[in-house]
Amino acid sequence: MPRMRFKSIFVAVASSCTVLIAQDQPIRIHAAALFDGTGKVVRNATIVVRGSKIAAVETNGSSPATYDLGRASIVPGMIDVHAHLGWHFGKDGRFPERPGSSAEEILYSAENAYVTLMAGFTTIQSPGQPNDVELRDAIARGILPGPRVLTSIRQLNERSGTPDEIREKVRQLKKDGADVVKIFASASIRDGGKQTMTDEQLQAACGEAKAQGLRTMVHAHSPESIKASVNAGCLQIEHGVFADDEVLKLMADKGVYFDPNIGVVLQNYLRNKAKFLGVGNYNEAGFAYMEKGLAINAAMIKKAVATPNLKLVLGTDAVAGAHGHNADEIVERVKQGNQKPMDAIVSATSLSARSLNLDKTIGTLAPGFEADIVGLDGDPSTDITAVTRVRFVMKGGKIYKNEGKPEVRSLKSDGM
Ligand SMILES: [Zn+2]
Repeated sequence: MPRMRFKSIFVAVASSCTVLIAQDQPIRIHAAALFDGTGKVVRNATIVVRGSKIAAVETNGSSPATYDLGRASIVPGMIDVHAHLGWHFGKDGRFPERPGSSAEEILYSAENAYVTLMAGFTTIQSPGQPNDVELRDAIARGILPGPRVLTSIRQLNERSGTPDEIREKVRQLKKDGADVVKIFASASIRDGGKQTMTDEQLQAACGEAKAQGLRTMVHAHSPESIKASVNAGCLQIEHGVFADDEVLKLMADKGVYFDPNIGVVLQNYLRNKAKFLGVGNYNEAGFAYMEKGLAINAAMIKKAVATPNLKLVLGTDAVAGAHGHNADEIVERVKQGNQKPMDAIVSATSLSARSLNLDKTIGTLAPGFEADIVGLDGDPSTDITAVTRVRFVMKGGKIYKNEGKPEVRSLKSDGM
């Protein structure tokens, strides 16, 4: 076959060319500690990367490192299962009433993707806007820097029609390339969080998604909306500000993933109140709800962390102003929720990968996995704030960030 002949010519040329041979050499990254994402720690670790994949994890290796991260710790590329990459403040610095031009919108998304990657997040799930598809595919082509993107493209809510119409909409999402179906089962926290979709609508959405091989993520604040979603066979619950012991246990019993967002989103709204106030339900009453939400969230996350077998994944609900601060969610899990630092790391890596059905490829530092590798200044098992000090980012074997700070020395430059 002509194609195979061409390939063997290429191999012959490549083997006579030192530049191409150099690219075949493994990259060896050394650090004081390696957290593999499943709960294991390797001290004095070297991780060996060949192409886009991890080839080996060694301890006390004798070969010289390509990158010596000194006393830094290595963790798998972090995962945010709920981030709105398209949200950005407008030209006047305020949250825009209406979307900007399509060029502005996609460029804002690209900016958010970049800062998210620089913060050590190599995969995110977007609960959806239509231009996520182009963004996802552009990043996947390997030129535009950003995390892997999974998207719902659109959302379903109580206005999405009859159960039959909802089933048709789910099939259309599948055709349009959605990775997940996003469903609004309850009102926003700014409107009290009561159930909005009927049980029949929820059953249609989550039932059809399952039939189409699509995962489901459901915005639900009140206990009854969470219960209805779990009973409808939905796979993951978002927010859950008002989740009580009964529904926390129900999620654990049914193996439903729970994605509480307690460390980033409300803090960001309150910090940027002046930029949101006056748009839609961002009014004084809405902000009063959000202010109260901080304490309610703090109580809820303590109970959630203490619920046996509850699968807590890591999502921020990052909106305008919050991108790049994603790791604050991990810190607050530990501070407010008393989650063990190691459990918080596992949540943000291998467990979140499992919730995305990507646990065979990302979220773990082991041979055969994608080389998504993040270097942190410090040891997150003793100081969880290390997850906010990202000094080195590799995604799919390619280095996007390598700060040669004294505590994270790089022996060779990026281009070697
Ligand atoms: Zn959201």
